[in-house]
Amino acid sequence: MSTRPCWVEIRTRSLEENYRFLAALAAPHAELLAVVKADAYGHSLALCAPAAVRAGASWLGVTSVEEGVAARACCADARILVIGGVFQGQGAAVVQHDLTTVVWEPWQLDELTQSAQAAGVAPGTLTVHLEIDTGMSRQGVSPEELAPLLHRFTPGSPLRLEGVMTHLFAADEADGQITAQQLARLDAAMSCISAAGLFAEWLNVGNSAALLAGQARELGELAARHGMRAMLRPGLALYGLVPGYDPAFDPPEPGSLTAARAALQPVLAWKSRIVSVRSIPAGALVGYNGTFVACEPMRVALVAAGYADGLTRRLGNRFSLLVRGQRAPLVGRISMDQTVLDVTEIPAAAVGDEVVLIGDQEGEALSAFEHAEAAQTIPWEIFTRIGPRVPRVEI
Ligand SMILES: *Cc1c(COP(=O)(O)O)cnc(C)c1O
Repeated sequence: MSTRPCWVEIRTRSLEENYRFLAALAAPHAELLAVVKADAYGHSLALCAPAAVRAGASWLGVTSVEEGVAARACCADARILVIGGVFQGQGAAVVQHDLTTVVWEPWQLDELTQSAQAAGVAPGTLTVHLEIDTGMSRQGVSPEELAPLLHRFTPGSPLRLEGVMTHLFAADEADGQITAQQLARLDAAMSCISAAGLFAEWLNVGNSAALLAGQARELGELAARHGMRAMLRPGLALYGLVPGYDPAFDPPEPGSLTAARAALQPVLAWKSRIVSVRSIPAGALVGYNGTFVACEPMRVALVAAGYADGLTRRLGNRFSLLVRGQRAPLVGRISMDQTVLDVTEIPAAAVGDEVVLIGDQEGEALSAFEHAEAAQTIPWEIFTRIGPRVPRVEI
């Protein structure tokens, strides 16, 4: 048990409530897959995957086979989709742990087929979700290369095409043009799949932005036209954050987004403590290279969290953390394991005081969005940067 005062609190009850809210938003048009990749966006897979299952999730999404094995260890009955695809040498683990993988390369089908045959799996039982590249140029088979890949799903093959997947990469944009183009390409690919005599049960499309922008109905209708069911894959919203939207939305954002902003609750709080307080005279330097110079006598507090814990180094001299419900500026450079705050304006600040890096304190709040803005990145990166040495505690 770690006793260094730097920890993350995970409110699994909030995650459960977020899941139920999102599932209601998708119903009756689509079901949800709870994205718990990258250690549940840094929130702890071991805490969050079972919470999603308790809230009703039957599908979990992870990045890799390794993450899939970890998810299987805590969620024996869930369906687990490996979103990042299967790699050479991983087929046996996929079969052994009953994982479902996203595929788009012929060699991925070879890998799975060989492992399934070696394990004596019956024909048509190892499920895969085929990703179509509808314009993101990341994962997925291009529509032109789809037909030869489909020929691989013969009646004798151990593989079963259970899902057709794509990723909407601009669902947060107001005009929706890119999404419309992607869905048209997807529709054509689905027709190609049925023309090849194949049937997939799930149309697996859409992240938090798509769900919150109200895409479930359209995806459900598209799926139904092909005799399929739609599945959406929210990640960030599950952890209580509403992705940033294109300011060009007119009216400013869809009503569904405003409602979601009010309903979703942050799951994670990141905390530390003041471990030392000192008074410094005017002219004193703070931190590496003395990038902060005290202009007047100050009181500064040392906090047991640094960039090795995931506190972005570029926040030094340009961000504040919460102490006693007030914002205390970060002064000087952030060190690997420590940070200094200006607590001159918070005279009661003392050793042992809780410091909030992300979360609420006495009516004041600091969100991952604020960190992201100050660090010129996105909240997804802020969350996934919180280091493995910071214990995640369920509250
Ligand atoms: C991460 C990911 C998601 C979830 O995205 P959010 O924006 O966090 O909701 C959905 N689908 C794919 C393919 C992903 O990689």
